[in-house]
Amino acid sequence: MSNRYDCIVIGAGPAGSMASLILAKERHKVLLIEKHKEVGKPLCCAEAISSKGLSICGEVDPDWVSAEIHKVLLVSPSGNEVRVSYPAAGLVLNRKIFDRGLALKARSLGAELKVKTQAVGLIKDNKGKTCGIKVKENGKDLEYQAKVIIAADGIESLVRRWAGINNSLSLDEIGSAYQYLLEVEDIEEGCVEFHLSTKMAPGGYAWVFPKGKGMANVGLTATPVFTHDLKSKELLDFFVMKRFKKFAIREWMTGGIPAYTRKSKLVKENLLFVGDAARVVDSLSGAGITNALLSGKIAGKVTSEFLRDGNVSQEYLKRYKEEFLKIKGRELRFYSFCRKIYLRMTDDDFDQVIEFLKLYLNTKKLEELTPLEILKTVLRSNPKLLLLIRHLV
Ligand SMILES: Cc1cc2nc3c(=O)[nH]c(=O)nc-3n(C[C@H](O)[C@H](O)[C@H](O)COP(=O)(O)OP(=O)(O)OC[C@H]3O[C@@H](n4cnc5c(N)ncnc54)[C@H](O)[C@@H]3O)c2cc1C
Repeated sequence: MSNRYDCIVIGAGPAGSMASLILAKERHKVLLIEKHKEVGKPLCCAEAISSKGLSICGEVDPDWVSAEIHKVLLVSPSGNEVRVSYPAAGLVLNRKIFDRGLALKARSLGAELKVKTQAVGLIKDNKGKTCGIKVKENGKDLEYQAKVIIAADGIESLVRRWAGINNSLSLDEIGSAYQYLLEVEDIEEGCVEFHLSTKMAPGGYAWVFPKGKGMANVGLTATPVFTHDLKSKELLDFFVMKRFKKFAIREWMTGGIPAYTRKSKLVKENLLFVGDAARVVDSLSGAGITNALLSGKIAGKVTSEFLRDGNVSQEYLKRYKEEFLKIKGRELRFYSFCRKIYLRMTDDDFDQVIEFLKLYLNTKKLEELTPLEILKTVLRSNPKLLLLIRHLV
């Protein structure tokens, strides 16, 4: 089999599989590689996504979904609660099945999927242009050539480093997360919980996302600049003991969550970065699946247009960045700004915000509000937060 492709996609997470799927649909010769022996294993994710976010995939396979979300519970440091009904707000996925399903969908449309195949470097031609990748495939050193390379290799993205892009994240630009899959009794199915406290989850929060049948993703993210010697696992253990009377740990996982910053790079010559590799994550909540899917979809579409029209220059690929940021740029920048405020908030501030939300949300129809509108109202409601904004601006 030839080792030449129109496009090589590195990493079979949601971003990489989505890009491959779009390219395969347009009948391009695309290679999707995944370093692990199975797509979707191991992974670290709380698996929540909005219904709108998941709709980016087109037809949804019911097996991808573990549970529906129709309620949100926010708990302040002093235990004050706000519980909001939000019918059809979102879903908790079964990402092992979802990730695998998306990659297999790309394969069924014609993409070549290779597992146990790890990209280990880029190949440059004699003009210095990237023309392929070096891989370790089932222990063998091999090379593949392509006109375009899509890097979907997640938060650790080595492709960024090989391309000479600054890969570092400062200690306040990353969430350090730990999560258990717990079997528990005292949860409300369909209700996702967020627990805020600078002591319990400094610069982050703890979550409980029910998956149905008494199982739940229970995790915690913290910002390393505030955690000193404490590890996310220790903080999570403390939270679990406090929150649940009875529980059994079925799985554990750990990972990092990048924040979106101005350094985030989406295109360099014929290299396109998607999903966590491009850092296109909601910096406040750490949610990244929707943006992984959307960036993969747009990167696949623009690459397909570039490949189809033999007359356009490589500059055409920059349209991926333009089109993606036209849809998501403002939101990413706003969440990044909110994160800066969040990191400066005290437990008293969290208590006041929850108290405000209790009154405010009781007077509104939630279906008519977006999370962005709610956040803007919260910021306007609190003089101290307004002062923080002024300081940051
Ligand atoms: C604890 C935790 C909880 C989270 N919870 C949520 C949530 O509830 N909702 C949400 O929206 N987001 C959540 N996220 C974020 C979400 O998981 C990511 O944003 C999303 O997975 C990004 O998708 P991706 O395709 O860009 O990267 P990934 O899903 O990380 O996929 C990258 C793939 O590339 C492969 N790879 C890496 N390097 C190579 C290589 N050199 N060669 C070949 N393959 C390679 C990896 O094995 C992996 O399969 C969470 C993250 C963490 C850490």
